[in-house]
Amino acid sequence: MASAAVLWFGEAMSAVPLRNNKAAASAARSVTVLGATGSIGDSTMDLLRGARDRYRVEALTANSNVEALAKLAREFGARFAAIADPARLGELKDALAGTRTECGAGESAIIEAAARPADWVMAAVSGAAGLKPALAAVDRGAAVALANKECLVCAGDFFMQRAAKAGACILPADSEHNALFQALSSGNREELMRVIITASGGPFRTWAPADIEQATLEQALKHPNWSMGRKITIDSASMMNKGLEVIEASYLFALTPDEIDVLVHPQSIIHGMVEFSDRSVVAQLGTPDMRIPIAHCLGWPDRIVGPSAKLDLAKIGQLTFEAPDFERFPALRLAYEALRTGRGATTVYNAANEIAVSAFVAGQIRFGGIARLVEATLNDWIRGGNRSPLTSADDAISVDHVARNKAASLLPQIALKAS
Ligand code: NAD
Ligand code: MG
Repeated sequence: MASAAVLWFGEAMSAVPLRNNKAAASAARSVTVLGATGSIGDSTMDLLRGARDRYRVEALTANSNVEALAKLAREFGARFAAIADPARLGELKDALAGTRTECGAGESAIIEAAARPADWVMAAVSGAAGLKPALAAVDRGAAVALANKECLVCAGDFFMQRAAKAGACILPADSEHNALFQALSSGNREELMRVIITASGGPFRTWAPADIEQATLEQALKHPNWSMGRKITIDSASMMNKGLEVIEASYLFALTPDEIDVLVHPQSIIHGMVEFSDRSVVAQLGTPDMRIPIAHCLGWPDRIVGPSAKLDLAKIGQLTFEAPDFERFPALRLAYEALRTGRGATTVYNAANEIAVSAFVAGQIRFGGIARLVEATLNDWIRGGNRSPLTSADDAISVDHVARNKAASLLPQIALKAS
């Protein structure tokens, strides 16, 4: 595996390998996909399908969809398949009878899947539930393509410090961070002025505040450009996704909040840009297709042939840009506040959002209530003053649990309060 890459920010700060080391390019790789049945999982399996001779599947995991997991495990001859729902082990074993795939169930089996010796791991479980499995891959020094932003936001700095200590490479798979990953190699840390992550603005980009407040689940699930899982699609509508991504960029690349800007770009063609001291701005472009950043992570440090459509800028005609609106989309403001507060505040931001999104999906709060619940939970936590740095997964998970409980207890008052 290509672990000898030069690290831009130094071992202690970042495990993102910002200079390619072509000499270290490897032959066939073994890969594991955590969250194989989801939207990112699907894109990853599609890329693997197109390059069967270059990759061997070690382990695949899913939450509860036995049928989809078993189908993939059979197709790719996976050595291990793990389902998070412990009650489904029998079903999984039946579905994989006659194959050589070992089966496991429960959280420990998902962690075991990550710990098994694959060179490359796609971390695409959704939510903070992905933290322990991602850490299991990190701790054995694997190359980890990180799609799951919530686990990084939940774990804060220690995730990257642990990766650097273990010699793991974190390959940013989120499209904006993958764009930054590609663009950052054009200069040095001292030459960096800022990074810019783009945002489509989501389905409510032009909506009045009162309409955003009342938006339905169906409206929130209609993303203009990207086809993604349910939670991230709702996060995109509230711009909580961009908030999570600002925090993600800060932890991944060891950037201060002032070094990270958000730019609304409704066409989602430019994914991220880096401005250097000479005022050169280096950008990465591509069609809005997650297979592009995933292919970059899968091929890294080389590039593979991807199946995505060629970018036709003449056909697109116009690329437009707007400043983000922090008033109509308070989620973005709250992300910067959480990042500036530090020491667990981003964990609280993520946990409260996971509760808020579930409550919105369950019809317990209005769309506008999502950001209000996050703000109320964050403020309560800041007032509580219990802020020591997170140094372990247990620390992060304990803050996550406290925040979830607090958010759940605040739900009734958020449900009653319209903006
Ligand atoms: P998804 O809901 O489509 O898929 C999630 C996957 O995780 C599924 O395989 C599911 O079975 C599994 N899973 C869910 N809960 C689990 C649990 N508790 N334990 C074990 N497995 C569990 O989500 P997605 O859209 O593929 O997103 C996955 C992650 O990637 C998220 O963190 C998201 O923010 C991030 N991401 C997604 C996209 C995208 O285009 N979909 C883009 C950038 C980043
Ligand atoms: Mg993104």
